[in-house]
Amino acid sequence: MVDLKGQYIKIKEEINIEIRQVLDDAQFIGGAQVKEFSSELARYMTAGNVITCANGTDALQIALMALNLERGDEVILPAFTYAATAEVVALLGLVPVLADVSPDSFNIETTNLPQLISERTKVIMPVHLYGQSAEMESVQDLARRYGLKVIEDNAQSIGADYTFSNGNSKRCGTIGDIGCTSFFPSKNLGCFGDGGALFTEDDELAERLRMIANHGQRLKYKHDIVGCNSRLDTIQAAILRIKLSYLDSYIAARREASRLYRELLSDIEEVVLPAESQRSTHVYHQFTIRCQRRDELKEFLHNKGVPSMVYYPIPIHRQRAFSDIAVIRGDLSVAERLCEEVLSLPMHTELTADQQGFIANNIRKFYR
Ligand SMILES: *Cc1c(COP(=O)(O)O)cnc(C)c1O
Repeated sequence: MVDLKGQYIKIKEEINIEIRQVLDDAQFIGGAQVKEFSSELARYMTAGNVITCANGTDALQIALMALNLERGDEVILPAFTYAATAEVVALLGLVPVLADVSPDSFNIETTNLPQLISERTKVIMPVHLYGQSAEMESVQDLARRYGLKVIEDNAQSIGADYTFSNGNSKRCGTIGDIGCTSFFPSKNLGCFGDGGALFTEDDELAERLRMIANHGQRLKYKHDIVGCNSRLDTIQAAILRIKLSYLDSYIAARREASRLYRELLSDIEEVVLPAESQRSTHVYHQFTIRCQRRDELKEFLHNKGVPSMVYYPIPIHRQRAFSDIAVIRGDLSVAERLCEEVLSLPMHTELTADQQGFIANNIRKFYR
C-alpha cells in the first residue's frame, strides 16, 4: 500500500545527517529542530500558530480539551471515519453525534447538518478524508449561525487547499477554529514514528493548546489547567523538516499516480472512480474506488500479489466501543453503504506506471 523504504532511500543521506546531528546534540526533547519545523510548517500552511504534539489522536484530544466543554456536550462528526475522531470525543465524556457522508466526496454531508444540532451541540468536527477537503464553507456558515466551534481532522489532507465561493483559498486545517494533523509514517507528511500538530489563527487559543500539551503549565512547575504530556520529539522534527521540503513533490507524485489510475480504470464499469471536489484540491492520501463484489475483488487482488485496503469496513455507530455512546439523529445509510463498497488501491510516492498497469489489469481480469 505504501513504500516507505523506497521513499527513504531517495533522501537517505540528508535524513541521516540530520538524525546524526540530533544524536550529537543529545537534545532529544525540545531541541532546536522542533521550533524550526514548527515555523516552517506554519509558513507552508500559512497558519498563524503551529503546536506540535505526539500524534494525530492527541492533537484532536488537545483541541477538544481547549474549548471549555462540559460532560454531555455534543460533537458532530462523520460516521465514516477512522475511530480516533470519535474516540477522543467519548474519552472526554462528550457525546459523538454522527452525520452521514456524501457518496461522492466521502466527506461529511452538510445539507442535513442542521437536523443534528441540539442545545448541547458545541463542536463540528469535519474530517478531510482521503486527501480532499470537506465542504468547509457550509460547515463554517453553520458554525457561525449556531455558535459552534470547528475542529478539522486533517490527518489525511495536509497540503490540500479549499476555495470559498468568494475566490479565497485556504489550506485544509487552517479554516476552522483548530486544525489537527498526524505525522504517522504512512500519512502524506509522515515521520519515522509518531507525531502530530495543531493549527490555529487565534493566538490565545494557541497558548492554551500549548499549555495543555505540556501538562497545563506555562511556567515550569506551575500548573494552571489539567493538561497532558504530548510532544513531538527532536528526531521526528528533524526528519519532518526534510520531508516537508519534499511535500509538494510528493503530492505531485500522488496526483500523477491518480491520473494514471483514472486512465487505466476508466473503462471498467463495475468500478466508480473517486470524484474530485470542485472546491478542493486533492492530495490523494488514498485512491479509493467504489466497486461491486468488493470483498471478492480484494481477495482476487491479494492472490495476485496486489495489496488493497478497506478504509473503513465498519461505520462508527456499528463499532462495539461506540454503539452505546454515539448518537444517531438521522439516516446514516451512505456511510453504511460505503463500508461495503470502498476499496483503497496502493497509493504512494514511489508507485511506477508498471505497477499501476499490473494492478489495473488484474482488476479488469476480475470483472471479465
Ligand atoms: C491517522 C488518523 C488519525 C490519528 O492519527 P495518529 O497519529 O495515528 O494518532 C485521526 N484521524 C484520521 C482521519 C486519521 O487518518
